[in-house]
Amino acid sequence: MGVSRRRFLEITAAASAVGAIGSTRSLEAMAAQVGGSTKWVKSVCRYCGTGCGLYIGVENGKVASVKGDRDNHNVGLLCLKGFLLPQIMGAPDRLQHPLIRRDGKFVRATWDEAMTLVAGRFREAIDKFGPDAVGFYGSGQGLTEETYVANKLFKAGIRTNNVEGNPRLCMASAVAGYVQTFGMDEPMGTYEDIDHADVILLIGSNAAEAHPIIFQRVVRRRENNRNVKIVVMDPRVTPTTRIADLHLAFKPGTDLAILNAMAHVIVKEGMVDEDFIKTHLVFGQGTETDKSWDDYKAFLAEYAPERVAKEAEVKAEDIVTVARWFGEKGRKATSMWCMGLNQRTKGVWANNLVHNLHLVTGKIGIPGSTPFSLTGQPNACGGVRDGGALSHLLPYGRVIANEQHRAQMEAIWKVPAGTIQPKPGLPTIDLFRSLEEGKLKCLYVMTTNPGQSLPNVNRYRAAMRREGAFVVVAEAYHPTRTSELADVVLPAALWAEKEGVYGCAERRYQLLEQAIPPLGEAKPDMEILCDLGRRLGHGALVPFKTPNDVWDEILVACKGTRYDFSGMTRERLRQTHGLFWPMPTVGHPGTQLRFVKGDDPLVPADHPYRIKFYARPNDRAVVWLRPQQQAEELPDAEYPFFYTTGRDIEHWHTATMTRNVKELRHANLESMAQFHPKDAAKLGIKQGDSVKLTSRRGEETFRVKVTDNSREGLIYVHMHDPDRMCNRLTNDVVDPVSRQPEFKICAVKVAKV
Ligand code: SF4
Repeated sequence: MGVSRRRFLEITAAASAVGAIGSTRSLEAMAAQVGGSTKWVKSVCRYCGTGCGLYIGVENGKVASVKGDRDNHNVGLLCLKGFLLPQIMGAPDRLQHPLIRRDGKFVRATWDEAMTLVAGRFREAIDKFGPDAVGFYGSGQGLTEETYVANKLFKAGIRTNNVEGNPRLCMASAVAGYVQTFGMDEPMGTYEDIDHADVILLIGSNAAEAHPIIFQRVVRRRENNRNVKIVVMDPRVTPTTRIADLHLAFKPGTDLAILNAMAHVIVKEGMVDEDFIKTHLVFGQGTETDKSWDDYKAFLAEYAPERVAKEAEVKAEDIVTVARWFGEKGRKATSMWCMGLNQRTKGVWANNLVHNLHLVTGKIGIPGSTPFSLTGQPNACGGVRDGGALSHLLPYGRVIANEQHRAQMEAIWKVPAGTIQPKPGLPTIDLFRSLEEGKLKCLYVMTTNPGQSLPNVNRYRAAMRREGAFVVVAEAYHPTRTSELADVVLPAALWAEKEGVYGCAERRYQLLEQAIPPLGEAKPDMEILCDLGRRLGHGALVPFKTPNDVWDEILVACKGTRYDFSGMTRERLRQTHGLFWPMPTVGHPGTQLRFVKGDDPLVPADHPYRIKFYARPNDRAVVWLRPQQQAEELPDAEYPFFYTTGRDIEHWHTATMTRNVKELRHANLESMAQFHPKDAAKLGIKQGDSVKLTSRRGEETFRVKVTDNSREGLIYVHMHDPDRMCNRLTNDVVDPVSRQPEFKICAVKVAKV
């Protein structure tokens, strides 16, 4: 017996909205009953880094419905966004043919006209000013194969390392944190750790809204074991904090002090694992690993909970309680974090400090004990991070600065020695500043929306329209806040219209199969890039006819690296519901616990210990001594409020897709400025009033929402609204190591309008 679609929507909406406290069972039962399409094609959700598996229902050549994949980690569940994916396909603003700007207006063009213009402008810039006069800005939403093709074309064909992607805005601090502590990127564990954890620490993550299905797994863990403790560390009250046994609502920017204070308690009360420390760890400060366990203990002395509590405006006993829950011997602890930790000028350090807690307690590499960074985008791990499509990276753990690594990639790419430039290219903010300065002449933007998503966005919007700059945007929709600035807009095929691989937050690679042909004249990004390559004279470098051709080369590129997934054939991906790397042979089952003997094929069977941090010298991970440091810009007399931005459940990033879904467009698309009631009273503003928020970089007008979700002195605005862009105000100062901007904290003033 079926359930009507309307009823299902009501149930999924309710489950999404109250996922923090509700049972998921009714949702699962309902999901099983929706169906009836003629053909089901295996795929993955297009949105967040959770990477939920789903099936696309195709009727009469159109995407008619989706249903969750019961055999995948999401056990058939999808959140509301995922369930409503069919509506993004045929939306009125889908771009169906190329556009060229002429006399300030977009006019329809043929593919040949558009690509002739693009290739001509790129060729002219390269010939006149050298390869670094052009650049590529991609995305954690691009398929692995298309990101790989772009990386190869620009680094080995055009010979510029100006290849960046929006994961720089999203996960760069997590990457650098993993690399500094463990020697290489990406979590050691998987989502399954949630099912074994006794303590789950969520810091800088509103998982209930940003990663609903992961959060539902946390809720299930709690439902199944009432002794499980959930700690949320976040300045705001959110749906995530509502299930917390303890919510540490610290003053923005004081999280480093709190994490050090937790370590202080753990060390003082003897909750450390001394054998693990002696065998597996070294201690460091700055960039050197020249400190000792005693140095670390001395460093922690100034982080007594009583002192830190005053600075962070929380209770000292709460810090002690959280430290005890985390550190108690025999309890398994998993921590998860996201943009709240990463989008900071101290983001790398904050990541280091989370890792420290796991390392000194030895709570790592055991089912239920892992430090786990969540990701904002569906392929932030697979394409850009693993695939090395950032300005300092090469595929699969190689770096531009390493001569041997360059030589390896030159051999794989069959280009002459010395082809890859030894100097890293420009990280995202520097790339757009170079456009502003007129040094970067041409930029190719693929599957992302920097005209809305960059911090201090007014500045970079002006850079994209600067006289002499040439911006190409390959996009499924038009207009977006970026395509409106472009010189050429190329219609890109959308999810379900093309095939490729996504790598979600838990090192799981999954194949998205093509379900329907591209709409109108749209083409998969891989084909567009290969066409550009041919027109620039690099056709032999990108001869790929299908994504499978690219995957074959990727399997060669990863072979022998610490990512080695050369056993992950296309056929295996097609037959399974995701595979974990490392996976060096076709017979290998995949790796759940990385660095752990018996699970990770790169740890020898006769290794004397259960764990081997093989990516670090002497197989030792690093406990870093990272002092508390504040955000770059704090409230003062002129700009008296903290300003922070984030995600809400109904929408995804800049909403180019979710605004096309009727149910979501009517739900919370407008960014409102959320004020604490006491602040509202002081300012004489009430619900529904309009206020102008001004930072040192820009201003925007929002309607007011008065809510005690907000901390006193802190204004929150969600990032999704294309009409009221929160990023006109945010700070484009970056973490010195990860080059990730400080989206999360700046100072603003308020004026009633
Ligand atoms: S949790 Fe993320 S991946 Fe899963 S259905 Fe929702 S948006 Fe898609």
